[in-house]
Parts: sequence; structure tokens; C-alpha cells
Amino acid sequence: KVLLEVRDLTAVIAESKAQILKGVNLVIREGEIHAIMGKNGSGKSTFSKVLVGHPDYEVTGGSAIFKGENLLDMDPEERSLFGLFMSFQSPIEIPGVSNMDFLNMAYNARMRKLGRKELGPIEFYEVISRKLDVVNMKIDFLNRNVNEGFSGGERKRNEILQLAVLGADLSVLDEIDSGLDVDALQDVAKAVNGLLTPKNSVLMITHYQRLLDYIRPNYIHIMDDGRIVKTGDISIAKVLEKEGYKAISSA
Ligand code: ADP
Ligand code: MG
Ligand code: MG
Repeated sequence: KVLLEVRDLTAVIAESKAQILKGVNLVIREGEIHAIMGKNGSGKSTFSKVLVGHPDYEVTGGSAIFKGENLLDMDPEERSLFGLFMSFQSPIEIPGVSNMDFLNMAYNARMRKLGRKELGPIEFYEVISRKLDVVNMKIDFLNRNVNEGFSGGERKRNEILQLAVLGADLSVLDEIDSGLDVDALQDVAKAVNGLLTPKNSVLMITHYQRLLDYIRPNYIHIMDDGRIVKTGDISIAKVLEKEGYKAISSA
């Protein structure tokens, strides 16, 4: 069953009107893992931000249908409540809000949307303390302010913790491997793999093929100059590793 269908999506930078996405086509079905790879500056992050409705970008054409509904009609919060999760390449800090309160608020907003039970601080504590193991984090992590003073690895783990708590039909993970040492990368990958079900899907974006050793995609797409120029299986990554992006885009 199709989860996300993107057709001829074009987008510009809102301020300068410079065109970055030049017609992206992508179909993701339930239970699939997709990876987008590509040179720096090819538009990978822009594509993921456009999917979640980042205000820096303006869609100028094409469509994005998510779970049968027009994603482009929804504001960013609606998209997230509807089951689209995004982990940012550079997660933001939220001074003065504890990680615990932030996650509890986000959890309740999602439960409200799903028509399920919201949880007070004590009940939520029970839920979240069980999830901490997933990302190999200590409980005191929850009392710190969101992303404030977190190391690169802690930020990534925190993003995956958010995903574990909120659940999502499609998780877009932009460079969750960047800046991680092998231990942290393995933790994060294990956590992501542990969250996979036959129904939910992952779109991971990475510049390096190292991540693919830990999270195995069903499809790899190569982005170049605002378009997906090639799609294939894991063997594409092998070619990339050997010959670089040049071999792929001219293929
Ligand atoms: P990637 O994630 O593949 O490295 P990006 O999507 O971050 O690429 O960027 C694609 C191109 O668009 C780059 O040339 C980048 O400088 C430009 N770009 C993206 N977002 C902005 C922005 N908000 N303002 C100005 N330029 C941007
Ligand atoms: Mg980049
Ligand atoms: Mg990027």
C-alpha cells in the first residue's frame, strides 16, 4: 500500500525564489526503507524540509500525497500529528523546556489527534522510562532542556527517542549519521531498526554509505541538482563507494 507519493515536486527558496527542487518523483510503500544519497548541495535536506512544510521553502508545482491526503495543504504541525516524523540535520534547542515536558506535550498532542488517552506527568514518566533503553540513554537526560548543551550523539539519540515515543507512519531521518562515532551510530541504527514494523516506513538521507551497513534500505535514490536521477537497490551504494557520485549521475 502506498504511503507517500511525490510527483514532479518543485520548490524554491521562499526569500530569493531560487529554484532548488526541479521535479522530484518518489513513491514509498508501507514497510519500506528508502535512502536518498547525493552530493552536498544536491537538495536532499531541502526535499525533506519541503515534505514537513518548512517555511523557508515554497512549493511551486507538483504534488505530495501522504496516506491519501494532500500533504501540501497541511501546516507543519498537522503533518507531524498525521504521522510524518522528521529528524533534522541540526536539531533546534528549546531553552527553558525540559525534555520530559516537551515529549509529554508532543505525545499528548499526537494522542489527542489519534483519539487516544492523554497522559499526565506520572503516567508519562512510566511510558518514557521504558523507551530510554531503546536509545541507551540515562533517566537524567529527561530533566535537561531540549537539546541544550547536548553532544552531537545525544541530539541524535534524543530525536530517535522522540520518534520512539510519538510513533510515525513515515520517519524522515536527515543525516542521523553525521557527527556520530561508531558506538553512537550503532545505538541510533539499532533504535531505528527496533522501531520498524511492517506498516511504517523510513526515508533516510545520507551523504555516506556507512549508515547503510546498519540500516538496510530496500531502495536507494540518488539526488542530483534537485532531482532523483537514479533509483536502485543496495548495489548502487557499492558503486558509489568505489567510484563516487560521478559514476552514478553520468550512468
Ligand atoms: P543537501 O542536503 O543535499 O546537501 P540542501 O538541500 O541543503 O542540500 O541545499 C541545496 C542547495 O540549496 C544548496 O545550494 C544550498 O546552499 C541551497 N539552499 C538550501 N536551503 C537554503 C536556504 N534556506 N537559503 C539559501 N540557500 C539554500
Ligand atoms: Mg548538505
Ligand atoms: Mg543536507
